[in-house]
Amino acid sequence: MAEERPVLAVDLGGTKVAAALVSEKYGISVRVNVPTLAAEGPPAVIKRLLETIQALLRQQELAPADLAAICVGTAGAVDMAHGLITLSPNLPGWHDIALGEIVSRQFGVKTHIINDAKAAALGEHRRGAGQGVDNLIVLTVGTGIGGGIIIGGRLYTGVSGSAGEIGHMTIDINGPKCACGNVGCWETLASGTALAREAQQRITQGAPSLLTEMARGGNITGELVEAAARRGDPLAQQAVARIAESFGVGLVNLVNIFNPGIIVVGGGMARMGELLFAPARRLVAARAFRQASGAVRIVPAALGQDAALLGAAVFAREQE
Ligand SMILES: [Zn+2]
Repeated sequence: MAEERPVLAVDLGGTKVAAALVSEKYGISVRVNVPTLAAEGPPAVIKRLLETIQALLRQQELAPADLAAICVGTAGAVDMAHGLITLSPNLPGWHDIALGEIVSRQFGVKTHIINDAKAAALGEHRRGAGQGVDNLIVLTVGTGIGGGIIIGGRLYTGVSGSAGEIGHMTIDINGPKCACGNVGCWETLASGTALAREAQQRITQGAPSLLTEMARGGNITGELVEAAARRGDPLAQQAVARIAESFGVGLVNLVNIFNPGIIVVGGGMARMGELLFAPARRLVAARAFRQASGAVRIVPAALGQDAALLGAAVFAREQE
């Protein structure tokens, strides 16, 4: 009964490694979380990842042959066809690492590698906020902006597997430098990092804000700016308004290009709720083509951190 074997899904993030068994019906039966300790470099992180998979198997008294497949979702650029992590902003030192081959050699199980935002898109489509919609876009908005495009019910990957780098569409040709080497990318203007920078710049210019006291000499974060905005701090509210506007501009582009039925927004910034969504929706209504803007719903994600694990399992099963 090969089809009843679970997929072992791994979410390899900059701060933690989560591993879970995902059933054929996409139930998560068991999970293990360990810190990534990414600064220790690739060999140490790979060793920890292999040990985490081993520990999960041992805990469940499973042999590798009891798995349908292993799939690792990770932040950064992934060559899915070759199981390579080509570059990851959250994992220092990772360049062209054949993680798929390393894991499959260790366990003798077919192993797939997928970008975590693309995995989250598949997860939200099959089990989350995008269920029942076959043309949709799923965004993960946190320190950066990741994305997945689903067309006709399938993940769109492009001719060489790199499609969906939505966070790197240019919004401002003179904008801030991005980690990808370009300038003015959407994620430099509409992410949590951008929100923190926007507030910090205003404070540096001498504007008064509750944030100075709230940060207590530490870094101003997107979460802090959000909290200050909710307390009525004008500077924080201006920063939020600016970021929501940039966020909305990106959505207008997506709506005009893809005419999706739904845009699902997850990640840390989605927790801002209507503070972010309401102005962004207004901008879409005002600026996008009416035929498209009238057809799209812009909604928060439903699965939280499980989206990437579930989506990794979806991806692995679809490669069979
Ligand atoms: Zn970029």
